[in-house]
Amino acid sequence: MQAIGLDLGTSGIRGQLLDLEKGKVIRTCLTTRNPLPGANVMDHLSFAIENGQELAHDILVACVGQVVEALAPTRLERMAVCGNPIQLSLFEGIEVRDLAYAGESMLRSQNIQPPSREGKVIRTDDVGLGFSADLIIPPAVRHEIGADALAMMLKSGFLDDDRCMVTDYGTNAEMALKVGDDIYTGSAAAGPALEGQQISAGMLASPGAVSDLERCPEGWRMKVLDDRLDLQEGGMINLRSKVLRPGAAKAKGITGTGVIALVYAGLADERIVLPNIIGGDIVLSRGIRFTRQDLMEAGKAIGAIRAGHRTLMAEAGIGPEDIGNMYMAGASGTYVDALKAQAVGLVPTARRVVQIGNTSLELAKDLALDPHLVDELNDIRKAMVAHHIMFASSRTFSDLYVLELAYWTEGMPLERYNHGLASLGMSTSGPQNVTTTVERWRQKDIWEVGESLTIIDPGVKLTGTWECSYCHECALACPENALALDGRTFVVDAGRCLGTACRRCEEACPQKVFDYSALTMGGD
Ligand code: SF4
Ligand code: SF4
Repeated sequence: MQAIGLDLGTSGIRGQLLDLEKGKVIRTCLTTRNPLPGANVMDHLSFAIENGQELAHDILVACVGQVVEALAPTRLERMAVCGNPIQLSLFEGIEVRDLAYAGESMLRSQNIQPPSREGKVIRTDDVGLGFSADLIIPPAVRHEIGADALAMMLKSGFLDDDRCMVTDYGTNAEMALKVGDDIYTGSAAAGPALEGQQISAGMLASPGAVSDLERCPEGWRMKVLDDRLDLQEGGMINLRSKVLRPGAAKAKGITGTGVIALVYAGLADERIVLPNIIGGDIVLSRGIRFTRQDLMEAGKAIGAIRAGHRTLMAEAGIGPEDIGNMYMAGASGTYVDALKAQAVGLVPTARRVVQIGNTSLELAKDLALDPHLVDELNDIRKAMVAHHIMFASSRTFSDLYVLELAYWTEGMPLERYNHGLASLGMSTSGPQNVTTTVERWRQKDIWEVGESLTIIDPGVKLTGTWECSYCHECALACPENALALDGRTFVVDAGRCLGTACRRCEEACPQKVFDYSALTMGGD
């Protein structure tokens, strides 16, 4: 018999077909992006609230259907999913508006009843998938702390540790700090730069992605992911002389960990002097450039995570010097060179850093192999003493993020940045004489790929028709080439569209007839 484990991630869906008798992965399928319009999970939530939860649900279910089709199960018994509360709630088709508003009085005034997010077993037919199997949905600890956060805490050993942190380095960086029995959690909207998106030559951690840069006598050697997501030697680049030499593995783009390595290398060779790239874009190979805008995006992402880490420590009353173990989860947390990430401030000065891979997919896999685990997760959920800090309304986070933006995007000198930290009552660096040891528990973010890895484009389309002059101004204004006219039908590629945060199509329309809210789900 077979089962499917699915990670409904903000940057894409990852699915695995499992052999239940052998407890092994048969094959893996990834999507190039999340199918919902928007660049981050809050955009996905806004889309659902403004354009209809049913539409968002249908888009997600359609994309999951594509992943299942690509996995080609023959004897499917059950399916398990994991992800953050927004993706899981949209997929399940339950209320999500409670995730948008903080405070009970706000929920009451809006007449919103938060649904139960306990772990459960339902049927795939219940969510509208076109096949019949058990569907296991893990619990959220609280409405803000999802199954994905629970996954990284469980799979890292964080729950049995003390004075430790775990962070899933993704678009929506989930992070947790444990001090004694108390767990402090937060979620920093880092944006997609650390997953290689919104970077001009960016791509997910997939074949052809520059994933690291290694110092060599002539400069920096690129490390490129191959078809099985193993690192191969790519071309060489000298940041000072700008000389390039091709290598065996051909690069197609740069992923988030490559961005971090490039920022590190640029700072080390003084090609990057914040906030500028001295001498113009860094060219990695033909067609792959790292621009100043990319540097801004990377800086904002790094700054958001640094501010998040500091905010949790401030809430717990500790400093970076108190952190023993730091666990890094997610694709970026796995492939990144942890010491380079630490040098740019993405990792607190811990005594030990452990890189643990995609824990969300692993938990989905565990649940698919053993559905009774959902009861255990419900018990852990009840016992957990968790304090969630809403960064959006945290004064500490806001003060820290302003400092980070000034440092990364406006060229604030390090001394003034440190002075700013001191004025907030925070220590400016970790212990001076601590050597961090790094353990990479997994070589790949997906622990086991199986016999094949397939990557598909979600390709879910939204369509609309209305009378107008068909001048194409709306399509020309679309920054993502997500909008096209097929005869008199407007077709939006949902996964490419930036959603509610953009709406340039509507703004560009001279007749003011473009109606984004009228779009409905069409065919592929
Ligand atoms: S919707 Fe507006 S911008 Fe788009 S083709 Fe019609 S008139 Fe032109
Ligand atoms: S212009 Fe319209 S279709 Fe294009 S990304 Fe923006 S919202 Fe989406």
